[in-house]
Amino acid sequence: MPFELTGWGIAAVAALTVAVLVSVVGCFLRVRTLLPARQLWGLLLLAALFVSLGHLLAFSSLWQLHFPVLLTMGIICLTWGVLRRWALLLWALFMAVEMLQFIGFHQYGSRINSLVLAETFEASMEEAMAYLTPLNLALMLPLALLLVLFTRLQLRLFRNSTRTELLNTGMLFCGLCGVFASCLLPTGQTVNYYWPACEVPELVNAVSEALTINEATINQVEGLESPADKHSTLMTLEGREGVVLVLHIGESIRADRMTVNGYSRRTTPFLASCGSQLINFPTCISAACDTCQAQIAILTNGRRNIYDLTPGMQPTVGSVIDLFAKHDFRVYSFFGRRCAQKLKYDRVVQLLTRHSEARFNAPGYPWTAVEQMRQVLQEQDRKQNLLLFVNNEGSHTPFGYYDLENPPFTPTTPDFQNPTAQAEEVNNAYDNTIHYTDEFFRRVADLLEGRPYVYLYVSDHGEYLGHDGCWGRAFLGQHPYLYHTTDGCKVGMFVLFSPEFAALRPHFAKSLEQLRCNSRMTVAHEHIFHTLLGLFGFSTPYYDASLDLTSPAVQPYTGPQPPKHED
Ligand SMILES: [Zn+2]
Repeated sequence: MPFELTGWGIAAVAALTVAVLVSVVGCFLRVRTLLPARQLWGLLLLAALFVSLGHLLAFSSLWQLHFPVLLTMGIICLTWGVLRRWALLLWALFMAVEMLQFIGFHQYGSRINSLVLAETFEASMEEAMAYLTPLNLALMLPLALLLVLFTRLQLRLFRNSTRTELLNTGMLFCGLCGVFASCLLPTGQTVNYYWPACEVPELVNAVSEALTINEATINQVEGLESPADKHSTLMTLEGREGVVLVLHIGESIRADRMTVNGYSRRTTPFLASCGSQLINFPTCISAACDTCQAQIAILTNGRRNIYDLTPGMQPTVGSVIDLFAKHDFRVYSFFGRRCAQKLKYDRVVQLLTRHSEARFNAPGYPWTAVEQMRQVLQEQDRKQNLLLFVNNEGSHTPFGYYDLENPPFTPTTPDFQNPTAQAEEVNNAYDNTIHYTDEFFRRVADLLEGRPYVYLYVSDHGEYLGHDGCWGRAFLGQHPYLYHTTDGCKVGMFVLFSPEFAALRPHFAKSLEQLRCNSRMTVAHEHIFHTLLGLFGFSTPYYDASLDLTSPAVQPYTGPQPPKHED
């Protein structure tokens, strides 16, 4: 392979040249400019210990160790040369990050990357705490011991070394590594070969990418005009029919874990009992593994997540809820726990539901929301048309929302301490949360009995329960697109309606009939916006019949999705 004199290669040659020159000059002047042999052996042992522990714990195989050892020797010398004892702080920080990487990789199947960070920045306290388990904390203990050992060895080793010795030796090793790397090593294997040097730039990149994703998501929603800004009509309703639309964006429900989609367990007994009032969609593809991106794809005319730059796929207009509000629906929003974080979720969902007359939180468990809905319904004139927006915890990690006293599926554990070891318990907990959400559907349907209502449910994204080597909100590798190569992107979706709604207008009956006809096709979040417009009979320039599941002109989803199973 030809030697490439670019970037790091040039820096490496420069460092090596300086190191050699300094050493030669040092020889003439009889000044020591390199660490003596005894210290070099010590340094070699220290670096070998550090690198083998780091690598064996994490990411690489033994035969790749020689290069990182040389690199580590150089980096230790350089950090000590520049910072002296303060270098230990830097190393402590670094080892803490490595321990997090190790826990993330072995417990949940993902290293820290920009997606994980973007999700962490929008995580509620509760979600973050789910990962701060006693086991994970206990795993940090070896780190503390290692750090003490590492600190003592470094202090002993460099007790009498001069800055010149340290810097020059550091440049020599790093320079040699750089030159070797440019000549010999395959590209694209940074974690294996350039650890620990690659970790800092990779983390810095991940953080800046995560902040960019979060900012871009907020900007995307903030920059959208409202569909209510352009002329629109609603011919089917006059505003005094007492129609209720429940628009429920669920959390983390995989389609394949619902009885109505063929799952062997009775996770959704209520839905299974609904008969012809239920229109179930067994194949619905979620747009994103990130809650906010999914909500945007569901409520606006956006069709894919923010990473998909294919023309026509990003939203051009804001929330469909704006249109309902414009046409005399009163909007009330029901959320789960109040989230303390301010970065993304709160801002995005606030903008998407900005026409809410009131917002409710249901701390504890979802039945609070049912009571809040009862209250809202009682306070309203029965003829008032209503839109009740719901977005509660559902099956979110750590799968804690279910009947803890009397769970249907046992043994069960609502924690995320060691999911691989407790796979059965965690899977049971997940199924229990779906059972609980099914009971939520039942209670809301009970509440609305006798009224013309439509209940549209769609989950934001799926969940990994050991599938594809991942747990919880883990992402597959470094790549957001891999989400659509797994069944994690197939989510629960259904429409439930009352006979009173179907009987209210011939348009409704006809639309529901067409919706049922289309329910076996592959649908996606991109269909929701237009389906709501079509179902209610809105006329607006933003409507697209090819994405309206109540229209005979609808086209199935053809975007990214996992390969079809042969069965
Ligand atoms: Zn979510």
